[in-house]
Amino acid sequence: IERTLSIIKPDATNRNLTGKINAKFEEAGLRIVAQKRMHLTKEQAGKFYAVHAERPFYDELCEFMASAPVVVQVLEGEGAIAKNREVMGATNPADAEAGTIRAEFAESVGENSVHGSDAPETAAEEIAFFFAGLEIV
Ligand code: ATP
Ligand code: MG
Repeated sequence: IERTLSIIKPDATNRNLTGKINAKFEEAGLRIVAQKRMHLTKEQAGKFYAVHAERPFYDELCEFMASAPVVVQVLEGEGAIAKNREVMGATNPADAEAGTIRAEFAESVGENSVHGSDAPETAAEEIAFFFAGLEIV
């Protein structure tokens, strides 16, 4: 059984959408096996998104991720990584399929409500970035 790291981003926590987004995960058969709300510093956001350091939107992305609390969570299920990305929808909400989280809730390509790991290696790294093994149940 697979695990993936999910983040409910500041645009979504600001609009009090944590419960609605979690309902989408649970309806898709993903189990929330760890979850905490935290307010990242810009430096912590920068570390998390270090792979994007050379992208033109990196600074804006780190500012945004530190602008308000996020909810970080571990989702578990069969094919959790791909399933989560399906439920999230395309990065740009304009391209996201109807019924996906980003189609329903995202405000723009940057403020797009959720993050989800994109591969088993990144999922393992991203989960370890936020959680100790004993916190995941
Ligand atoms: P995530 O990694 O958050 O699940 P993703 O894999 O769909 O999203 P990436 O290309 O990895 O998208 O980009 C990471 C994040 O950077 C996006 O989710 C978005 O918040 C932000 N981002 C991506 N492209 C842009 C852009 N053109 N302008 C502003 N922000 C962007
Ligand atoms: Mg990505």
